[in-house]
Amino acid sequence: MTSAWKGETTMPTPPSVSGPPAPGEPGAGSIPPKGEPRDVNPGRRQRNTREFVILCVIGLSVTALAVHLLLPKRPGGREISPQLVCAANMKHIVLSMKLYASENGSLPDDPLRALLDSGETTTKLYICFSSGKTVRDVEKDLYVCFVPVAYDAPWWVEGTVASNAIVLYERDNHAGQGGNVVYADGHAEFIRPYSEMLRRVEESKRRSATSQPAADGSGRESN
Ligand SMILES: [Zn+2]
Repeated sequence: MTSAWKGETTMPTPPSVSGPPAPGEPGAGSIPPKGEPRDVNPGRRQRNTREFVILCVIGLSVTALAVHLLLPKRPGGREISPQLVCAANMKHIVLSMKLYASENGSLPDDPLRALLDSGETTTKLYICFSSGKTVRDVEKDLYVCFVPVAYDAPWWVEGTVASNAIVLYERDNHAGQGGNVVYADGHAEFIRPYSEMLRRVEESKRRSATSQPAADGSGRESN
């Protein structure tokens, strides 16, 4: 017979050693003369080891995936960052209000306009990005997102505002979930839900109205 297969020439083709002794076979290959009786197995064992390793890797990957999916997601990311940006804008505005008040004695009736005209702020700063409002909306109404308390009652004179008084709050920009307020000492807080935020603003206004010249320490401090 002439071999048509290329590979056949390279193969030694001993019939007996080619594989494990099948159950029915007389087992000529099963009695290798001496020394290493497992002459046939190394290849197979290697394959088994490789399969085992592959299974282990797959198992670990599946476990890692399961752990990743089951672990609670870290708070952060998308939900919080718009609130933080909003709070940062509001803090900036309050800082500008304080600067303006200390330079000019008090805040005018239209504080956001005054801050804008004096170059302390920009219209972009007056936007809460959760509100969906644009610069154009703000240009039409500077108070479309944020409301300085001084706007309602222009009593802010440097040193007469209690540090725990709310001086800037936001409209319902976060779909009722809550809203940022900034206190006279410059720190911000996101109060949930929005109705509670409004209640706290009203409370702060009432407190400020009754105890006009800062009963407790005045509103200058840290930041
Ligand atoms: Zn906001």
